[in-house]
Amino acid sequence: MFGNGVTISVEPEINYHLEKLIRESAIVEETNYHQCPYNAYHKISEGKLPVHLPKCQKLYKSDNKKICPYNITHIIDEHELEAHLLTCETRPIYDRYMRSQKLNQNNDVPKFEPLTSKTSWDDEPPVLTYNPQQYCLANPVCRSLKGASRLRRLAFRKFERKRIAAIKARISSEI
Ligand SMILES: [Zn+2]
Ligand SMILES: [Zn+2]
Repeated sequence: MFGNGVTISVEPEINYHLEKLIRESAIVEETNYHQCPYNAYHKISEGKLPVHLPKCQKLYKSDNKKICPYNITHIIDEHELEAHLLTCETRPIYDRYMRSQKLNQNNDVPKFEPLTSKTSWDDEPPVLTYNPQQYCLANPVCRSLKGASRLRRLAFRKFERKRIAAIKARISSEI
């Protein structure tokens, strides 16, 4: 006998296993669903939370609910927000991401290394000021265009290939 009153006439043993299976699958389903913080009757699967929550937020326009800055699916009562921010399980992930972003930025900054040589710079022969853009333009160094659109990058790469080929041809003709 099932909860909804339907009886399936099968062997008692099979029936037992069927009921057991249905009971167990019901438990699995239950744990995969979240209760909507705006309406306790809404049961939402994890994947649908980011779509469902903003909808209900608009619908119920609740002033005493706040969205966790680390995860938009965390809707917290205003007076509990402070405590939530300290224990939010998404926060370590967010912090790690922010740290990795900072590290990437630092990679672009050249490291300062103090001079160890005792040689006075005045003794060295005069050297022309090094202009990296000029140097790259005149030498077979592959440059790259950062932050440009895909089309511009493609055009730039084509231009670079021609430029480097021309420089290489010139160098081999000079040898
Ligand atoms: Zn809802
Ligand atoms: Zn949170």
